Amino acid sequence: MTDQYIYEVHHLVRDNAMSICCRCPHCQRVLGIEGNEFDDVRGEQYQCTCGGWFEVSYNARALNRESTLPPNRGVPE
Ligand SMILES: [Zn+2]
Repeated sequence: MTDQYIYEVHHLVRDNAMSICCRCPHCQRVLGIEGNEFDDVRGEQYQCTCGGWFEVSYNARALNRESTLPPNRGVPE
C-alpha cells in the first residue's frame, strides 16, 4: 500500500535516451518523467507506476549524465 504523501524530489538526471529521470521517493525506482527541459519538470507533480505521487522541487538539482541518483529520503518532514 503506497502512502498518499506527495514527496518532493530533489535530483534529476537524463538517461541515455535523453529523457529526464528521477527516483521515486515511494519505491526508489528510477523512472522517466515527461518534459523536455529540466525547468519544465520543476514544480510539477507526477505519479509513479507504484501509485505514489511526488513533486519535483523548484530547486531540484540536475546531475551530470551517468550520475547515480541518490536515494530520496521518502519521509515526510
Ligand atoms: Zn514509485
